[in-house]
Amino acid sequence: MSASDTAERYFAALARQDLDTAVACWRPGAVDRFVGQQELIAPDGVRRYFAELFAAFPDLRFQVLELTASGGRAAVRWSATGTFAGPGAFQGFVANGARIAMEGCDVLTVSEDDGRIERNHAYLDTAGVARQLGFLPAPDSPLAARVTKLVNARTRARARIHGVETERIAQGVWVLRGGFPKKTMNVYLIADGDGLTMFDAGISAMADGVAAAAARLGEITRIVLGHADADHRGCAPALGVPVYCHPAERAAAESDAPFRPYWDFAKLTPQGRLLYPRLLPSWDGGAVKIAGTVQEGDEVAGFRVIDLPGHAPGLIGLLRESDRLALVSDLIYTIDSQTGRDQLPDVPHPAFNHDAERARGSIRKLAALQPAVVWAGHGKPVSNEVAFQLERAATPRPPVPAVTATAPSAPPGTADAATATATVPPPPPGASATAPLPTTPTT
Ligand SMILES: [Zn+2]
Repeated sequence: MSASDTAERYFAALARQDLDTAVACWRPGAVDRFVGQQELIAPDGVRRYFAELFAAFPDLRFQVLELTASGGRAAVRWSATGTFAGPGAFQGFVANGARIAMEGCDVLTVSEDDGRIERNHAYLDTAGVARQLGFLPAPDSPLAARVTKLVNARTRARARIHGVETERIAQGVWVLRGGFPKKTMNVYLIADGDGLTMFDAGISAMADGVAAAAARLGEITRIVLGHADADHRGCAPALGVPVYCHPAERAAAESDAPFRPYWDFAKLTPQGRLLYPRLLPSWDGGAVKIAGTVQEGDEVAGFRVIDLPGHAPGLIGLLRESDRLALVSDLIYTIDSQTGRDQLPDVPHPAFNHDAERARGSIRKLAALQPAVVWAGHGKPVSNEVAFQLERAATPRPPVPAVTATAPSAPPGTADAATATATVPPPPPGASATAPLPTTPTT
């Protein structure tokens, strides 16, 4: 029996609601795939579906409009009309007497051995049927206009919270700012051949915004993580491209844990102690499969990789010779990690550092490379007196006292953080990379 004969027999059986003959056209275990909806397994799945359909639409009539067969394939363009009269329900809705008229196309694969259907791809206009049945509003109706308005309002609200703002910061480099609250998470896109390399991956809620921004600029072909903390790997799993990181970050990136074993929330304010254990899992996108590693001296999209360990064991930055642009992940913080307020560049909060002293050494290492502009993982860039600001950030200062308003003028090298954020103090003697350093504060 040819594919054409089988298709004719099958549709003739459906037209007269002859379930036994229709189901007998199928090879057991064959799949009837309703594209975008469901997959039925013959014979029981097929029988159940059509039994429900015929119980809901007792006068349902199929008509073959055209049939094209070649080899073991038959494509059938068909129409169907019927009344939702019941007694059976349809997709959970009770019969309402609505009339439907629809068209569809089945592409059947027929076995050469026994002439039975081995597979079917069925294409139907389900939205059209849902409108005719009154399950969806008709286009141009007041209800449809209200639904459109509602969907757009939700989209805009989501974009305000989770959307990303794209800004070109240098030749072929864009920052995408996103994340809740305050859009302080920075993700970078770098033009790289025909595609885009993404540096750092923000938080999971940024995935749609990042994908949309990237769709306007090119195609993300790989992600390089500055380090593997939850707020830097967050949307990597959702983007489905190869992800790279430093060898010392691989285990953390591939782990399910949203926390690092060396973090110490006890060093945060009471508010921070309450918030961070909840925020970090909500930011995280889970484990990331690492496709390969990059480290000191490797080239990435026209930038050179620099190892900048300390905040995380394998934190890396990217530096471009041509314009001295540095992208440095969490080497420095230009915002207060607990309030989100702008601050002068500083070492990340002690609660989150693997080794603060090493982090300071890495900041000095970057200062010595004389970058012109430094963009970090959060907040605004450093673009003025860059080496001086980096040296200052690398210099330990004592912890901020509880009350600072009447603090006496501090000796050089120990200026408290409150004054330091108000005015840039002269470089303390300890600022030089070779001078011995005062004791590390333990806030
Ligand atoms: Zn971070």
